[in-house]
Amino acid sequence: MNSRRTVAITRWVLSICALAGIVLVFHAWVHVNPTTVALALLLLILILAAEWGLRYAIVISVAATACYNFFFLPPAGTFTIADPQNWLALFAFLTTSIIASRLSQRARDEANDARAHQRELEMLFRISRELLQSDSVATLLTLVPAAVAGATDAAAVMLYLLDGERLYQAGNDRISDIELPHLRKLALSLSGTRTDGDDVQIPLRTGVRPTGLLIVRQVRLSPETAEAIGGIVSISIDRAQALEGVARGEAVKESERLRTLMMDSITHELRTPLTSIKGAATALLAQKVSEEDSLELLSIINEESDRLNRLVSEAAEMAQLDTQQVQMHFESVEVGELIANARESCSWAEEQHPTTVEVPHDLRVRADRTFLQKVICNLLENGAKYSKAGTPITLSAEAVNGSVAISVADRGVGIDASEQSLIFERFYRARSQSNGTSGTGMGLAISRAIVLAHGGDIKVTSQVGHGSVFTVTLPRSE
Ligand code: ADP
Repeated sequence: MNSRRTVAITRWVLSICALAGIVLVFHAWVHVNPTTVALALLLLILILAAEWGLRYAIVISVAATACYNFFFLPPAGTFTIADPQNWLALFAFLTTSIIASRLSQRARDEANDARAHQRELEMLFRISRELLQSDSVATLLTLVPAAVAGATDAAAVMLYLLDGERLYQAGNDRISDIELPHLRKLALSLSGTRTDGDDVQIPLRTGVRPTGLLIVRQVRLSPETAEAIGGIVSISIDRAQALEGVARGEAVKESERLRTLMMDSITHELRTPLTSIKGAATALLAQKVSEEDSLELLSIINEESDRLNRLVSEAAEMAQLDTQQVQMHFESVEVGELIANARESCSWAEEQHPTTVEVPHDLRVRADRTFLQKVICNLLENGAKYSKAGTPITLSAEAVNGSVAISVADRGVGIDASEQSLIFERFYRARSQSNGTSGTGMGLAISRAIVLAHGGDIKVTSQVGHGSVFTVTLPRSE
């Protein structure tokens, strides 16, 4: 027997017992006039209507009318009524109890409606607050199903976009029983919200143009709420796309400015190694140096030309990233695999540093493999470069809301608070490093450009003398 039936049966038994109790008390023990009995019965009926609903109140009203007539209206013990006035009393009792039950049921329904309304409003508020926080389309699209599933408690939510036939899902279950062509047909043909079995299908639009479909499974939504959710999702996607459009426009202008800046910086940075090479070469040509000195001058030329070479290729890469000439191929990549490949490609960094990796299984990000490996490798190399041999380096990753945070932590020299934002600028090297460890000051600038192109972010927290933690945040992929 299911629990609903058990509850109904229990309620019926309790209602009948309460009626029998009142009749028994007034008939056998406490002798009062019939009006008092009628009021006591009316009170029971009102309580039933308010607590359990009209069904119980009506049936018990009829039964109470019969008991009232049989036990309390003269002649007692028969259904006959001697005095015509008592007919009127009986009729008034029945009518009052039914009208009062209905009023009380209506109040109950209105209270339930108001509560449901309030819940739906809270739900809409939660969804809009979460969705309007994100300005990046990539992050927003992964956030939409998660936000709707979180607010509605749906078993599964699927977002389908006509543009690129993209699918995003969230919830405890997966929606896998609807084929892409069917989704496409639904997105194009639905003019309003539709309920199909367990699914609420909500079309998404920009103006009148269909843009996709939202499917919410195993949850009851009023058509108005479903429409409102569709509206919020459509508007937040439009908003993020518009913001990215504006940002792209500004980026074109910015890239022109950067090109000029880049030329200035390169000229400036190239001058130092060129001056050293020129000086060494001039001294060698003068042929007045000892064999030992000439070896040193040659090694200066060798080192400085390596540095020049590195500078030029990194500057070229940076320029390409600035002007968005690089093609990135975003796909769902497992973080553990990314880190393993990055460690392989810069294995020297681990020769003098015990390295630990703490990454949950099957944590995935939306990324371009090659570029992101480069970022992790750069952070790992920096961790090794800027800390004493033997100190540990830890690579870790964790899911944070709709994103994944990948961190590289070292126990090295650390970075002064005043320089923590500057080290991401091209050619900037912390004051403590400018004379020591070799480098170009371009690694972090390139890493940041790559991470931004992924719709992510890169940050550092550090304490001089204790170490640094670089954290890359990227959109999570299911
Ligand atoms: P490079 O290492 O070639 O100088 P980067 O752009 O990678 O260039 O780094 C810029 C500067 O940031 C470095 O010169 C260094 O001063 C500082 N830095 C980067 N990573 C670390 C780290 N893990 N610990 C301390 N300082 C760091």
